[in-house]
Amino acid sequence: MNKYGYLELKAELLINGINATPKALKEVGTKYKEQNHGLFGWDFEDHTNIALPDDFALPDGTIVQFRRSSRSNYLVDQKDGKLILNDGKKELCQIRWLDRPKYYSQETSSGNRMVKIGQVGGEDCQFFCYQNYCSHFSTNEQCLFCNLVSTSNTYDSVLKKKDTDDIGEVAKAAFGEGNVKHILLTGGCFNHQKEIELVSNIVKTIREHTGFDRVPGTILPSPPKNLEEIQKYYESGIKAIGFSMEIWSEKLYQAICPGKSKNVSHDAFVKSIQNAIKVFGEGNVYGVLVMGIEPKENFVEGVKTLAGMGANIVPFVWSPNPGSKLEGHRAPTSKWYIDTIKEAADIVKEAKVPCGTENHCYRCDGNSLLHDALRLKGIE
Ligand code: SF4
Repeated sequence: MNKYGYLELKAELLINGINATPKALKEVGTKYKEQNHGLFGWDFEDHTNIALPDDFALPDGTIVQFRRSSRSNYLVDQKDGKLILNDGKKELCQIRWLDRPKYYSQETSSGNRMVKIGQVGGEDCQFFCYQNYCSHFSTNEQCLFCNLVSTSNTYDSVLKKKDTDDIGEVAKAAFGEGNVKHILLTGGCFNHQKEIELVSNIVKTIREHTGFDRVPGTILPSPPKNLEEIQKYYESGIKAIGFSMEIWSEKLYQAICPGKSKNVSHDAFVKSIQNAIKVFGEGNVYGVLVMGIEPKENFVEGVKTLAGMGANIVPFVWSPNPGSKLEGHRAPTSKWYIDTIKEAADIVKEAKVPCGTENHCYRCDGNSLLHDALRLKGIE
């Protein structure tokens, strides 16, 4: 396998999807971590009657999101007690499902199942969505790649609104098990003041339950209006902040995200990131993009601008998932992803953006390639 072998394999698996035999899936949901659809669904097909893994590890530790597709040639089977990935013709490598956190079987003191409140992304990222709601669906102006409502209707697997104390208890349980290292906190579209208040209360509660002075991890709120609002997020005690700007090219952003772009312009996102860097520091601010919908040159321009400002970038590999307006479309080839991500990694390395792995690392999620490409350049 060449240096980029597992990165190339990950790109292939993310754009083509994967399948697994019943034997390979036997202990998913008991011994191994299953999908719980905390916000979006990333599989190419829904699967209400079967527990599937959230993600898995390749031999070099690369985390890959499991995106089910019964048409994919990639298959995981169990052989002599080992999980083996093949491409329909030959065996590729051994893989590893990730352990199911113990708290997934526990309840909060108010009687809610903890797994319905927060889920672990990858191996070490505790994910909370404080409100699974987005107003853009009611006006049919949702982002074209988003399947939030359909995921919630299909699986109904998490509580849509979470109690702040419940979140604190789940964070305590998750960090207490020893694997979780960071928090990722996000929510729907909100009134600014209410969101600042809610996020501040949640972070404060997490600090009380876990004993952290400042919580390692990232919040992804709606972009604050000014420096003062960003300061309030900083004062909550979270170490990093990010903004989901989705698409870099302004015109494409307006077309792909019709509702969101009416509320928050491209320039407002850039301004928020600039302001946030003043408060949180370089490397502790993230621009979150969807990768594969806009042309390479636009995406790379976005990476160049953001990295030049001192921001990190999390680009999610687009999944044309069920329930989104782009369901059934196809993502670019894995070669396109690899060429583009290598260029992006060179730019980020050259810009010397502090890696911020204390708040988000390659083990956090299986649907971005950038942290893996940076790791291959010695940045992790
Ligand atoms: S803003 Fe866009 S991506 Fe976010 S939940 Fe709404 S429709 Fe989905």
